[in-house]
Amino acid sequence: MPFKLANVEGRAALVDGDSYYDLESLSAGKLGSDPMAALHDLPALSALSATLGSTTPTGALSDVELGPPTPLPPSCFAVGLNYRNHAEESKLDIPATPMVFTKYSSCLVGPTADIKVSSDYVDYEAELVAVIGKGGRNIAKEDAWDHIAGLCIGQDISDRGTQTLGFPPQFNMGKSFDTFGPMGPYLVSLDSLDHKEALVLECKINDEVRQKDNTGDLIFDIPALVAYLSELCTLRIGDVIWTGTPGGVGLPDSNYLKDGDVVTTTIEGLGTMTNRCVRIADHSNAQLLAPKFKEVLDAAEKRKEASA
Ligand code: ZN
Repeated sequence: MPFKLANVEGRAALVDGDSYYDLESLSAGKLGSDPMAALHDLPALSALSATLGSTTPTGALSDVELGPPTPLPPSCFAVGLNYRNHAEESKLDIPATPMVFTKYSSCLVGPTADIKVSSDYVDYEAELVAVIGKGGRNIAKEDAWDHIAGLCIGQDISDRGTQTLGFPPQFNMGKSFDTFGPMGPYLVSLDSLDHKEALVLECKINDEVRQKDNTGDLIFDIPALVAYLSELCTLRIGDVIWTGTPGGVGLPDSNYLKDGDVVTTTIEGLGTMTNRCVRIADHSNAQLLAPKFKEVLDAAEKRKEASA
């Protein structure tokens, strides 16, 4: 039985249509309120979802604010340059192995949270996010889907200046400012999706469609990522994998996020997230680093020209 697991103001809840059902109440206390703990009993989530039609909901989704479905993942993996068209627009080579970094869990926020922008170089990246439901080590590609609890939408918000801090650059901090990880609107179980390997993904800034692609175009798909990551480290229940973004980000044309911009991210079968950008006090470090970022891009272009 398909389920949708939400984080309603810090409490785990199942979703049906426009209603939510508090998990602790629904299970008569058998399951707790912690959204992370809920991932440890997926069969119970499926079984409880089957009963929703005959139960009174706790409330309407429109009356509450959702948090990130997995507010405190043990590990938060993210993959760069995982769509050919995004690698090309970034003027970077297509990686031979997954290019992995982390988003620190403190950046995770819900599907309607404001994105706090503190420089002129903050960018959007619509992404499919997979959540681990069964941990393990050395997971084979053909078994990988059995280790996924479900999928949701993510925005890998990135301060492009800070992203290139130091040499060699480390992406982690530039992608982990507070609010840089909107996730949601809820975790959707795989059996809810007719074709989980190929979902249409779209990102609009205000009314303009900037990214539109299909997750079937991932260079390293979810099974490949699970196999790769679990060869290096143990995957644990609740870990999240941000699978990368397609072409159309703001970077190539300096189309960065401004105060008041509304980022609308939709993935087929998973719903929509709507996050508004709010400019806060300048983060001087990010402003200082932005020109350096341009140098990095120019150098990459020169390198490409030289090798052509
Ligand atoms: Zn990304």
